[in-house]
Amino acid sequence: MDAEIIAVGSELLTPERIDTNSLWLTAQLNELGIEVVAKMVIGDDRRRLAEAVRAAWERSPLLLVTGGLGPTEDDVTREAVADALGRELVFQPEILAAIEERFRRAGRVMAEINRRQAYVIQGAEVLPNGVGTAPGQWIREQRRAVVLLPGPPGELKPMFTDQVRPRLRALGPPLAIRTLTFRVAGIAESDLDQRIAPIYKRYADLATTVLAAPGDIQVHLRARCEEEAKAQSLVEEAGRQIEAVLGDRIYSNGEPMEVVLGRLLAERRATVAVAESCTGGLLAQRITSVPGSSAYFVGGFLVYTDALKSALAGVPQHLLREHGAVSEPVARALAEGTRARTAATYALAVTGVAGPGGGTESTPVGTVFIALAGSEGALARKFRFLGDRERVRAFAAQTAMDMLRRQLLGLPQLPGVAPS
Ligand code: ATP
Repeated sequence: MDAEIIAVGSELLTPERIDTNSLWLTAQLNELGIEVVAKMVIGDDRRRLAEAVRAAWERSPLLLVTGGLGPTEDDVTREAVADALGRELVFQPEILAAIEERFRRAGRVMAEINRRQAYVIQGAEVLPNGVGTAPGQWIREQRRAVVLLPGPPGELKPMFTDQVRPRLRALGPPLAIRTLTFRVAGIAESDLDQRIAPIYKRYADLATTVLAAPGDIQVHLRARCEEEAKAQSLVEEAGRQIEAVLGDRIYSNGEPMEVVLGRLLAERRATVAVAESCTGGLLAQRITSVPGSSAYFVGGFLVYTDALKSALAGVPQHLLREHGAVSEPVARALAEGTRARTAATYALAVTGVAGPGGGTESTPVGTVFIALAGSEGALARKFRFLGDRERVRAFAAQTAMDMLRRQLLGLPQLPGVAPS
């Protein structure tokens, strides 16, 4: 079954507020095998909302409308949905009594405007609101339904879980949805897509989404079938082929790199220290964002200037003079010096030009050297990351962690670009 969601509220059209209800509802609906095919945000405008409801109702058998059920003039959802469905609004004294009782228990007198909340669309089932005043509504036409839910997430969630979910289950046999995620490092998005597109294009019941972040691509597979077993075997079958072509560039089935790396270090009782120049602490920040990282993260040095590269990480000054700070020998010396001074099992060092200024012909913006020191010496790779300052830094931190992941798993290091 396909569904649409309309989030109502002029505040959701400002830069200050975002519609999070539809994200939560989408996850819930997907679990029931219901796919969200469109969603809209509409301001507090009766005519526009009625138009949107009418259009959605023509396209899709299930429509969820959130927000705009409050007592004030700008809460127009009840009226707009009644307009769109061509139904009357009916006053329900029991609802008014329940709202009055709620106010009485709180030691207050109900304001007259709350009467508006006692109007229900003809033929609707009322969904009592245990948390706030605005009741929800469930309107069913054969195997189709419109659901009105309150805007505050704390009211919407229990109402959906307790009252809407069971009704949706009864609406019809749901489709089973099975998903599989791969997270991939060390490959460009276009290369990745070129390799996996011939696989996922073969499956009509499989939706594939590729989400790219710097150095971190997520491939989401989603199978939608009448039978659960079929959906499961479909994602597994396509997943196996994708694994075969991407190999060890796949680093997890959903966990971020820092979590994978932390587990590998902890399992081996190994520790890591960092020396960061152009990433300015981003690498340490990511490693330490994982709870329990104190078991394997020793600390490190933030060495922006040449002077600190020598003073803290022990880089010989002649290397800095002869090769410059952004060079393979300096990256290697940074890693080795940091490892020696921190007594960590491994040290990662990053030195590069994040931009937008500071590039030269021989060392353009985006040039980053990453080195990894271990008990058998240090290796360094040169990279040329494309994009703005934030992207270059994000690429560098992710790639550094991936180098250590590969080392810990005994995988060959990726080539980077040849040093010139
Ligand atoms: P109530 O009468 O309880 O206020 P309501 O249905 O009228 O219910 P709204 O007035 O539309 O709800 O929204 C109340 C608050 O709920 C908003 O200020 C906002 O903080 C939150 N809210 C509304 N819609 C959303 C949404 N789609 N996503 C996240 N938060 C929302």
